[in-house]
Amino acid sequence: MTARQLRLVCASANPDKVAEIEQLLTGIAEMEPRPTSLGEVIEDADSLTGNARLKAVAVCDASGHAAIADDTGLEVDALGGAPGIYAAQFAGENATYADNRRKLLDDMSGVEQHLRTARFRTVVMVMWPNGDEIVVEGVCEGHIAEAEMGDAGFGYDSIFIPDDGDGRSFAQMSADEKNVMSHRARAFSALPGALMLHSSTEG
Ligand code: IMP
Repeated sequence: MTARQLRLVCASANPDKVAEIEQLLTGIAEMEPRPTSLGEVIEDADSLTGNARLKAVAVCDASGHAAIADDTGLEVDALGGAPGIYAAQFAGENATYADNRRKLLDDMSGVEQHLRTARFRTVVMVMWPNGDEIVVEGVCEGHIAEAEMGDAGFGYDSIFIPDDGDGRSFAQMSADEKNVMSHRARAFSALPGALMLHSSTEG
């Protein structure tokens, strides 16, 4: 089976991410929606790869098909790498995107521009029902803005300014512009090679 014919069941239940993943998988694989019967997966591993694996296993088990799962962290240097893998719950268990951004801006208050460096890191895992898995990673370096900039995107997009851009935050870019340089796009760009390698080692 070639990578182009692959059908992958998406493990993400987050509509913001599903939209990006669908676009990023174009030409690589067909995406199937997450089984509606599958409940929330508790992401309590201590790494992005561990959390992606928890989601991939749950979807493989529920669907009987190959799954694609991703997990993203935000590492802020001035905060010792926080929120890291806890990006979704930075301001508390039921925090909204806005709560998390507010806490991050508060925690970074008074931190000088050159010390506001940060990076998004995404791990993408494809897992097959026989337990085979491949893992790819993408990183986007940037810095934390001093205030919200822009309305597009989701999560921390309005306070993250990628180094490879022109000074705009992700939330001031179109989806296509973000998808050229984002952590998630970089991870997905490594997927075709990893899938080819996997299919060449299959018995
Ligand atoms: P997840 O583990 O991939 O669901 O990501 C954890 C959290 O990171 C999300 O709840 C968002 O707040 C944030 N996040 C993930 N991807 C992005 C992105 O592309 N832009 C901004 N924030 C993101």
